Amino acid sequence: MARRLGSGSLVIATHNAGKLKEISALLAPHGLNCLSAGSLGLPEPAETGTNFVENALIKARAATESSGIVALADDSGLSVTALGGRPGVYTADWAERQWFEGKPGRDWYMAMGKVEGLMCEQGPNVPRSAWFSCVLAIAWPDGESAIYEGRVDGALTWPPRGTLGFGYDPVFVPSGRVQTFAELDPEEKHRISHRADAFAKLVADQFG
Ligand code: IMP
Repeated sequence: MARRLGSGSLVIATHNAGKLKEISALLAPHGLNCLSAGSLGLPEPAETGTNFVENALIKARAATESSGIVALADDSGLSVTALGGRPGVYTADWAERQWFEGKPGRDWYMAMGKVEGLMCEQGPNVPRSAWFSCVLAIAWPDGESAIYEGRVDGALTWPPRGTLGFGYDPVFVPSGRVQTFAELDPEEKHRISHRADAFAKLVADQFG
């Protein structure tokens, strides 16, 4: 059995407001005192890994080493069948960094357009299947770690639809639904997403 988190403080090692909101909501029932890396002023490490597991561990280890508190990190991304699994671990990098009303962010509409453009180059019958992956890594200050992997399958739609969620949500229709992740009630997204799948495994292992 994996080492347990217990009921103390936990640093959520992300500077992405969308992920922070979803992870905090998923952990809310488990009585942990969740702190964000941003509010603690922790530096954002370079994501130099070549897969989701390596990047999740880089982020969780950096946060626990600089805070001395057990840390949870998420690395996630969109993989498109017709693009051989790209953008995958480089999902965030496909969106250019921009300033929005004085705050740093990324241009997700440009990134969604880039994915669509590359698919269109392959002709009208290109398969539209895609999946989101999520790896959760817990890192303890003494160097121990645990990993949980989740996935949700679906298809890409164009043009983008919906205003909820974040990132590539407006173009992703999960299997068995007609609405995009950005049109679904957030509670419904939290039930079926890649992050929910990884969290179900974490919760069963840590709190079961
Ligand atoms: P990273 O894990 O910080 O490298 O970022 C992965 C990127 O994948 C995010 O910035 C989003 O653009 C995208 N992504 C991950 N999870 C989701 C999701 O639930 N909805 C939409 N986009 C997501």
